[in-house]
Amino acid sequence: MKVLDKIWDYLETGRFSEHITIGRLTIYGFNAMHVAVNFWTKKWGYVCFHPPMYCFGKWWPWYFYVSKSATPWEATYAIGPGVDNHAKEMARVRRKWPLCSKCMAHVESPGSKVCWRHSKIDGE
Ligand SMILES: [Zn+2]
Repeated sequence: MKVLDKIWDYLETGRFSEHITIGRLTIYGFNAMHVAVNFWTKKWGYVCFHPPMYCFGKWWPWYFYVSKSATPWEATYAIGPGVDNHAKEMARVRRKWPLCSKCMAHVESPGSKVCWRHSKIDGE
């Protein structure tokens, strides 16, 4: 697996500061993501994992979350010290919210029928 060797070499030497996308998988290097892996699934959106990583002179704790927008602020599942407690709490609450009537995302708030994207598109 030449590609994996190359990726590992980049990660190990700290020279990899870009990201690599292979189909639905994206691997982030030593940049704002502090080395992370995102995998897109149709059902849950992005599955995001970040191992404990020493980057830019400090340790960044691990996290694992599932989010439509690949950000912890829309996560429907989140664990690890790398995600703050508010995001985890919101993920727990969000899982109980109904799904958007137009896509598989959760609704924007408990009272609405569509997700934040569809509420923007429709101007509801
Ligand atoms: Zn929607």
